[in-house]
Amino acid sequence: MANLPEPLQNLIDAFERLPGIGPKTAARLAFFILNTPEPMTPDLVESLRSVKQDLGFCEICFNITLAVNPLCEICSDPRRNRTSICVVEEPLDVLALERTNAFNGMYHVLHGVLSPIEGIGPDDIKIQPLMERARTGGITEVILATNPSMEGDATALYLHQRLVPLGIKVTRLARGLPVGSDLEYADQGTLSRALAGRQDMTS
Ligand SMILES: [Zn+2]
Repeated sequence: MANLPEPLQNLIDAFERLPGIGPKTAARLAFFILNTPEPMTPDLVESLRSVKQDLGFCEICFNITLAVNPLCEICSDPRRNRTSICVVEEPLDVLALERTNAFNGMYHVLHGVLSPIEGIGPDDIKIQPLMERARTGGITEVILATNPSMEGDATALYLHQRLVPLGIKVTRLARGLPVGSDLEYADQGTLSRALAGRQDMTS
């Protein structure tokens, strides 16, 4: 057999397009699916369908929300402080910060970071909508909570330069987080301290 049957090859190709999956893992996953007992596959198919059809992104902050709700739980909560926006890279970072119970403001999810190497510029992530929120007024502080990585820092610096002229106080999470780490994996104590000790970038 020179070639794999087309359906199997298609599945391998599909897995290979996922981040962090190389050809060997893709093939192993595809063969696992092929050999797996019946009940698991419909569950997987249904989960894949549901995550694309039943979920969407909040119209204000781009956090994950049920597709039937245009606004996420946080944006639709009248008890949240609307003068403060915490900017994060991914929806999982919102969860990590929410678990600390140390922040009662709003969020903005960028869905990525600036990365000249990977060709990701300001128009490729949700920077424009953030600027629109900032310009609409009523925002007194923006907390830049991008990851303490090279790209996270570069993104924070870029946003800082664009937000300061609007008269907004811009702060950055304190350096308690290990450099190169991901917010979503930080423990609650470290994250709370980083939030409490956030530093003013304005001056
Ligand atoms: Zn929202």
